Amino acid sequence: MKVYISADMEGITGVNHWDEVEHKKPTFYHQFQDRMTKEVLAACEGALDAGVKEIWVKDAHYSGRNILSEQLPKEVKLIRGWSGHPYSMVQELDSTFNALLMIGYHSMAGRGGNPLAHTMSSSKIDSIYINDQQTSEFFLHGNIAGKHKVPLVFVSGDAGLCEEVKDVSPNTICHATMVGVGDSTISIQPLESRNTIRNKVKESLSGDLSYCIWDHPKTYTLKIRFIKQQTAYRASHYLGAELIDSKTVSFSAKDYDDIMRFILFTV
Ligand SMILES: [Zn+2]
Repeated sequence: MKVYISADMEGITGVNHWDEVEHKKPTFYHQFQDRMTKEVLAACEGALDAGVKEIWVKDAHYSGRNILSEQLPKEVKLIRGWSGHPYSMVQELDSTFNALLMIGYHSMAGRGGNPLAHTMSSSKIDSIYINDQQTSEFFLHGNIAGKHKVPLVFVSGDAGLCEEVKDVSPNTICHATMVGVGDSTISIQPLESRNTIRNKVKESLSGDLSYCIWDHPKTYTLKIRFIKQQTAYRASHYLGAELIDSKTVSFSAKDYDDIMRFILFTV
């Protein structure tokens, strides 16, 4: 088996503040950089326990240069930085993978559930909808796995995200690292969280994974509500896009790749 792990940071156990996920704030960041690495390691160990032979890890937070490679097992290929490919947080994902797993993901823009809740860009995007469903980074990238018929078997992140996962993909196993309340987080302990990740990842990769493959609708309609009207006006000039109101742009496509391409060039 060959699996793909996409790792973000805002949903890592106990993360509470932007200072803790920004490399320019080393006093706070290093502790959580190490914790993120250890949660990815726990997922790798769970995958190896389940008999996985090859693991690709995408460091999918901010600079894409957070995970400490020395701590990961020899079966891992680590993708660092950003290629500019529209698949963004799941760059290189294709139908050769047997499963997708997400670590450290978080609640979507405009929702509670995490003090750092956002979708793709906290400075540009108010909210994203796909086929009228409000969309997180989990849903946005989960659809890429759906296109390639790769089962999305496991997600870890805040409890708000886990509610969304239950709704959208009920057979995906979820691990809640913390509950976000306003600007606070209430979290379990890191060691406990890692043990659960390892056990649940093993469980998620055992048995019939096909229950975690998403349907691919015939058409996708993306709506992005931007924070500024100027950004929306600019994006509305993308070929095929339409300005719905001063801050909202709509774009429809049959191929999901075109949806991700729109986001790459307008956000
Ligand atoms: Zn992030």
